Amino acid sequence: MLQERGIVIRSAGSWVDVRVGSTVVSSRIRGRMRLHHENQTQPVAVGDQVRIQVQKDGSGVITAIDERRNCLYRRAAGRQIGKQQVLVANVDYVWIVQAVRRPSFNLGTVDRLLVACEAQGLPAGLLINKTDLASPDLWSTIKKISAHYHQIGYQTLLTSVREKKNMELLRHGLSNKTSVLIGPSGTGKSSLLNEMDSNINIPAESISPKTNKGRHTTALATLHVLFGGGYVVDTPGIREFGLMDIEPWELAHYFPEFRPHLESCRYAACTHNHEPDCGIKDAREYNIISDTRYESYQNILQSLLLGERDTGR
Ligand code: GDP
Repeated sequence: MLQERGIVIRSAGSWVDVRVGSTVVSSRIRGRMRLHHENQTQPVAVGDQVRIQVQKDGSGVITAIDERRNCLYRRAAGRQIGKQQVLVANVDYVWIVQAVRRPSFNLGTVDRLLVACEAQGLPAGLLINKTDLASPDLWSTIKKISAHYHQIGYQTLLTSVREKKNMELLRHGLSNKTSVLIGPSGTGKSSLLNEMDSNINIPAESISPKTNKGRHTTALATLHVLFGGGYVVDTPGIREFGLMDIEPWELAHYFPEFRPHLESCRYAACTHNHEPDCGIKDAREYNIISDTRYESYQNILQSLLLGERDTGR
């Protein structure tokens, strides 16, 4: 039977779309492969390089999955609680997307996603869309936020799909790599991607005025091929992003600007919360570490201490 190599572009339930050259083969996973990656909710994820056997009816059976370079995952909720839910495999860059408003900018979400990327070794940047909606006051706040993350070491990009602002910069940033756009629904991810390439055509639902939220779909992620080279993955409707595999004492390492101060703590396992002689709390007092980042650190620390890291097994 014909064996082909391809990349997983969409995974919803037990059927997986695999792109082979320029065609898409709807495929199933061979039964015993389900036993691989037992700590994960699905054996195969968007971005996986796979081998498939094409059947007589044109559908495919996935027979092998290449080892992943890396992946972006969150902690599964519900029935599979505690397992890794892999959103995308083999990632080069993660853009954390927020809107200036509608829905409101959420620093807590940004920091949580940045921690996940740091812990999983994925380079990340902050993309703030809908700059056209900013009042002068809001614009000055957004500029400060952007400068702050830039200073920490993250790439930042301010865009407006409506005004076509910085579209070329984003297109350049996405070329020849596998990038992921992740953030709350309604922030403009699908609109941004539609702007990037005329072959991409994601239906952008208008935001419900009641909830300020955008579309809902069952697919965790969809991979699009960029005409100029590269792939971009759209992750709609990520409402919650549960962290896992992070011990409370490790957390500060995933805040890059905290790292230089960690050695000044009296205790090696300092959680920078209640302990005396803490380098992080000193740095905060001198405004070297910002209040907002320290607050995010505290919030995430509390959720880890409350058991977010538990595997549930
Ligand atoms: P997604 O859920 O993150 O994919 O968001 P969508 O791309 O579906 O966008 C949600 C809504 O915001 C749609 O009504 C878009 O037309 C609108 N939108 C997207 N980008 C912009 C922008 O830069 N400015 C403004 N004013 N609206 C935008």
